[in-house]
Amino acid sequence: MQSNSLLKSSKMQTQILKINQAKPQISIIKQAARLIRKGEIVAFPTETVYGLGADALNPFAVKKIFESKGRPADNPLIIHIHDKEDLKRLARDIPEITEKIIEKFWPGPLTIVLKKSKIVPKITTGGLDTVAIRMPKNKIANLLIKESGVPLAAPSANFFGRPSPTLAKHVSEDLSGRISMILDGGKTKIGIESTVIDLTRKTPMLLRPGSITLEQIQKLLGTIKVHPMIKGKKSKMIHRSPGMKYKHYSPNAKVILIEGSTQNVDKKILQLVNKFKKQKKRVGIMSTQKNHTYKADMTRFVGSSPDKIAANLFKVFREFDEGKMDVILAHGISKKGLGLGVMNRLDKAAHKKIKV
Ligand code: AMP
Ligand code: MG
Repeated sequence: MQSNSLLKSSKMQTQILKINQAKPQISIIKQAARLIRKGEIVAFPTETVYGLGADALNPFAVKKIFESKGRPADNPLIIHIHDKEDLKRLARDIPEITEKIIEKFWPGPLTIVLKKSKIVPKITTGGLDTVAIRMPKNKIANLLIKESGVPLAAPSANFFGRPSPTLAKHVSEDLSGRISMILDGGKTKIGIESTVIDLTRKTPMLLRPGSITLEQIQKLLGTIKVHPMIKGKKSKMIHRSPGMKYKHYSPNAKVILIEGSTQNVDKKILQLVNKFKKQKKRVGIMSTQKNHTYKADMTRFVGSSPDKIAANLFKVFREFDEGKMDVILAHGISKKGLGLGVMNRLDKAAHKKIKV
């Protein structure tokens, strides 16, 4: 273990290495794994978003994640494993239902919350007695965990409060000079963070919606509760998923989320564009229709299906930031399937919500 005075000194050199998503070059994986074993931090692609990985069992290494991201200490990290057996080392009192869930969804974008074992340092779990674990599908992620020989604590590789990175370029925009290495494996497939479910309660509870959908989990388990915050309600259960209280994206621009029929949303957008233009504001539109006719400063088509929107959402958020928008008008979509995950991220970003 190393106790490093990372970041006290001036900037460190961040190495950016291109790596093949389909057939990752093992020599590059080994370079990254060496850094992990030395207690350094490395950004790498997963199937959801880019993660910022460190040895989950080394508190000095994990501390560097929090420091480099500017992440609050009470926001817990997800531990990534490459072998289902590792679960038994990291968690205790594992309920029977776990087997069924991981059999169906692992490797993949589903994180489970269990009681933590003694070997997991409190810094990794943000002081909680529970631990979040996932086994990613992405080959680069998988090989990196395997070669490192340790489970990887890895939150999204963005600076705190910025949208999660879906390209290596996003990681370097936020964290260049603050981390040791970025593995550039191209665009991440899914684009929003993993689904999180809590298995420490009698009935499992969805804490964060993602691309493993509520419907899919319901079908497997028969029943699952949904955290009230996901349904847009205030809740005293916030401590169960501390990440929920933080905004994922707080740009200078005010995001206005507009929900309703396409026709009504369109009308409202036209009206708001005129209003904000009169106020000399820069207006961006996040559209779910290809042939739009808006006269905004910047219009971005994010796709019309939930999977396309999920894949493009955070990239488009960053583009609006670069374009220095004052206001972003975003189309709401149906909360079915992956739509629930997309709307959850839009909800968190929104300054204001309008139903038409
Ligand atoms: P990130 O990796 O940046 O997407 O953030 C991980 C998120 O997973 C946190 O913000 C929490 O919402 C959730 N999480 C991680 N560990 C736990 C835990 N022990 N209990 C509940 N939620 C957790
Ligand atoms: Mg994050």
